[in-house]
Amino acid sequence: MAAQETVDHKYVYDFAEGNKDLKDLLGGKGANLAEMTNLGLPVPPGFTITTEACKAYLATGQEPDGLAGQIEAHLESLERGMGRKLGDPDDPLLVSVRSGAKFSMPGMMETVLNVGLNDRSVVGLSAQAGGNDRFAWDSYRRLIQMFGKTVCEVPGEEFEHAIDDAKRAKGTDNDLDLDANDLRGLVDAFKKIFAKHTGREFPQEPREQLDLAIRAVFDSWNAERAVVYRRQERIPADLGTAVNVVAMVFGNLGPDSGTGVAFTRDPASGAQGIYGDYLANAQGEDVVAGIRNTVPLQELERIDKKSYDELLDYMARLEGHYKDLCDIEFTIERGKLWMLQTRVGKRTAAAAFVIAGQLVDEGLIDLNEALHRVNGAQLAQLMFPRFKLDHDFEPVAKGIGASPGAAVGKVVFTSARAVELAGEGEPVILVRRETNPDDLNGMIAAKGILTSRGGKTSHAAVVARGMGKTCVSGADELEVNIPAKKFTVAGQTVNEGDVVSIDGTTGKVYLGEVPVMPSEVVQYFEGTLDPEQTDDALVRAVHRIMMHADTTRRLRVRTNADTGPDAARARRFGAEGIGLCRTEHMFLGDRRELVERLILAGTDAEREDALAALLPLQREDFIAIFQEMDGLPVTVRLIDPPLHEFLPPLEQLAVNVAVAQERGEDVAKEEALLAAVRRMHEENPMLGLRGVRLGLVIPGLFAMQVRAIAEAAVTVVRDGGTACPEIMVPLVGAVQELETVRAEAEKIIAEVVGNSGVEVLIGTMIEVPRAALTAGQIAEAAQFFSFGTNDLTQMGWGFSRDDVEGAFFWRYLELGIFGISPFESIDREGVGRLVRIAAEEGRAARPELKLGVCGEHGGDPDSVHFFHEVGLDYVSCSPFRVPVARLEAGRASVTTTGSDSR
Ligand code: PEP
Ligand code: MG
Repeated sequence: MAAQETVDHKYVYDFAEGNKDLKDLLGGKGANLAEMTNLGLPVPPGFTITTEACKAYLATGQEPDGLAGQIEAHLESLERGMGRKLGDPDDPLLVSVRSGAKFSMPGMMETVLNVGLNDRSVVGLSAQAGGNDRFAWDSYRRLIQMFGKTVCEVPGEEFEHAIDDAKRAKGTDNDLDLDANDLRGLVDAFKKIFAKHTGREFPQEPREQLDLAIRAVFDSWNAERAVVYRRQERIPADLGTAVNVVAMVFGNLGPDSGTGVAFTRDPASGAQGIYGDYLANAQGEDVVAGIRNTVPLQELERIDKKSYDELLDYMARLEGHYKDLCDIEFTIERGKLWMLQTRVGKRTAAAAFVIAGQLVDEGLIDLNEALHRVNGAQLAQLMFPRFKLDHDFEPVAKGIGASPGAAVGKVVFTSARAVELAGEGEPVILVRRETNPDDLNGMIAAKGILTSRGGKTSHAAVVARGMGKTCVSGADELEVNIPAKKFTVAGQTVNEGDVVSIDGTTGKVYLGEVPVMPSEVVQYFEGTLDPEQTDDALVRAVHRIMMHADTTRRLRVRTNADTGPDAARARRFGAEGIGLCRTEHMFLGDRRELVERLILAGTDAEREDALAALLPLQREDFIAIFQEMDGLPVTVRLIDPPLHEFLPPLEQLAVNVAVAQERGEDVAKEEALLAAVRRMHEENPMLGLRGVRLGLVIPGLFAMQVRAIAEAAVTVVRDGGTACPEIMVPLVGAVQELETVRAEAEKIIAEVVGNSGVEVLIGTMIEVPRAALTAGQIAEAAQFFSFGTNDLTQMGWGFSRDDVEGAFFWRYLELGIFGISPFESIDREGVGRLVRIAAEEGRAARPELKLGVCGEHGGDPDSVHFFHEVGLDYVSCSPFRVPVARLEAGRASVTTTGSDSR
């Protein structure tokens, strides 16, 4: 029964049978070739072997039953259509074999051309080409070279060396000077290389060539580079690749032939127009290999106007059909244009916005679709300063853009030197082969990090992203020599102290100082660039899409801000309130002394004195924030960290006391401090006396803050303003904790507010797993919940949030335990489940319960989609991420499938 099913299974599709929506089955290339075929564009005939055939082959190590027969049948039909037989000695059909997964993937085998050529059919090919022997032998040597390299893993350099030898013998350095005889000699040389490395002769049987090439494409799915790439890009490992078998057309048949690539718009800026390159008398891989110089596509108009006009017509049709930027590969064979590939083209972040805006103008897509076509990661990229590259700055190396931004500084090779030079006020770039946890201090001190090894999930990349620091990783052209304090690249030596510039978005590395310019998108958000007045297409497009996101989103967006200026900036960026005002920052600086008095208070009176001194200062803090937010909700969180964080470190204090005692000075106060520090020392401060526990243990502390908040609100209202305070209690794990604090707070609020009209809400953070699991009870005592996903992740996973990212996350990422740090993007299944349970049970107990999130995840694109899905009312994030959250909240409302666009 199972065997019967396998035999019946359809593993091969003619191009005329597929379409663009079958990418899972036919891969991107195959699906789009089918689509173009069905649009009536001139695609050379061919067929696609499905990803399912690949998966079946990879599972068993054997081609599935029925595949060989289906290939045979489709090949026969192809032969009939072309009027030629594969490898026929007199008039051969030749085919190309091309891989094509759902997502384009470097590291997989790409293409073998000219399959079907052998010692006999090479003669037939020459006859077909009008006696062009040179062309025929050149095609044959290309087959052996590509087949050897990609199918049989013969080292490519051996073939290159043989070509160099042939050119040297001829006294030329131009491939084109090699004539038919030279190429025939080269074929012999290539065959010897092939035999030496594979232990067998180059296969002469055309069908064997074809089968081996197909098998090699299947196998290349599991090539190491492909596996690494998939892991980095989070492409599932079980998709498999399709294989396309396409009748050959030749761009190297003479001056009336050629090959090229084209974009329907500029993929860098999004500008409308014709972009691309053309190379006469060449085959596709010559363009990619950069062996000869291409000409701009516009030149084709002069060279072959008919083909050019036809190409432009197809490009317009493809754009209209795909409703997006398309990139295209084409070949002209003796004046006849063939379309070899198209796909929705990759583009820069700026181009994504500009093109989306243009397509709306052109009526091809609506604003919802435009919103869907861009994403928060792109917007975030556009908010970083960029290098001004209008001079002739050429990169000397290109690595992986691991953490965005533009950083310029002096090169250092050790963490210690980074700290030292940065301490002297010098901007530094830390250069390492790869980083490890010992480099942490240097990474903190540096403006940017550059490594010669490692990918997007290397230690350097992960830690830099966590710190928001520019990083280029895996720039493997760099020869880094740490002991000699230098690196070499492109024949140049860079010593410690020399200046380099690194672009963490593009991965490019420049020698010297490249000028940095501010982001025009930030200027727009800041309000200094008017989108209606500017002719900057990017700003206009961003404005338009942001406005649409704002009208579609259901989630409100607030900000985490503790000061008036931060609050003001966040408002300009579109924040609709403060979701987290951390009050601990208000106890630093010259107020430390008051906190010390509070901690050291021996009597109730001393403690009350210290609190009374803090009260007016806190009131002023809140007045400034309420005024800035002018009627928007402001969630003020009562003090959260352990109080000993406000005291000097134990070691420093102990030394001070010892030195002062030695000198015979009066150290009574320091001794008291030291004793307090010793008394309050905790092994696990994150799980110790902090949050609501402080409020329950230190009489009057929360009461003072509640009073300051209420008095500030009343003051603002009395002065004609509006204030909407929400008091938030941190680290609650049990409803009883909240009830106790709330009872005291309500009394104070009633007393202060009187009939001023001020309304104060009282709610809690949900950041302890127990709180999430007892949310139904806690909601009885809370008017709102705000998810503290930083602590919820810390306690949910048992990961110390201050240590683990630098210590071992790189290994977890490498092993694929998670694809991204759970502190960066919400762990939907685990921590997210706690959020979901708490939201559901909280709302069940109190339907009007307001729900928000104020952990770092509030500004993470993927997490925003999750918070939309679980029905929160708002997300709150740092001011700079407010626009990203607005955009993603809009996208979440128009897309039901979560984030997309790879
Ligand atoms: C949180 O834990 O997510 C939170 C917002 O609080 P903090 O980061 O101040 O602990
Ligand atoms: Mg917290």
